Amino acid sequence: MVFASAGGRRLFTRKTRPGAKGGIPAYMTNTDLLKITDFGIYCPEGDFFIDPWQPVAKAVITHGHGDHAVGGCRSYLTSPATGEILNLRLGQDTPIQVLPYGDTVSLNGTALSLHPAGHILGSCQVRVEHRGWIWVVSGDYKTCPDPTCEPFEPRRCHTFITESTCGGA
Ligand SMILES: [Zn+2]
Repeated sequence: MVFASAGGRRLFTRKTRPGAKGGIPAYMTNTDLLKITDFGIYCPEGDFFIDPWQPVAKAVITHGHGDHAVGGCRSYLTSPATGEILNLRLGQDTPIQVLPYGDTVSLNGTALSLHPAGHILGSCQVRVEHRGWIWVVSGDYKTCPDPTCEPFEPRRCHTFITESTCGGA
């Protein structure tokens, strides 16, 4: 378990070594597919940030709350509903690419998909896959029922980065 704190938000990562059933040879190590930087969570292979804290070239946004969706980025990728929220918050001319839940897009050889987080309308977890390794970033999420958004969808992964806004230290 690795604990990191940056930008006022707490992030936990749990790294697991895939077993034989994971389909990945045991001698392979789980490299840092995502890293914490001064700008936020960064994917070096895909060259994108997830919920950056400062404007960046390519931002993947988990949901429309202000502490997760900074303005001024050169491009945004998010769910369709979050895209509409960002258009209202950041302006209609904001360069936003939307990706429906479950669809996959390739970013510099990484496979990225979005999955419901159950937090607010349009909120999503970000799943990143590269060379067989799968990381998931939860964004804000909740697991109890909420009629305003799709329920949290658990995703299998090797490393899970979870938000811990209100506790869990
Ligand atoms: Zn939120």
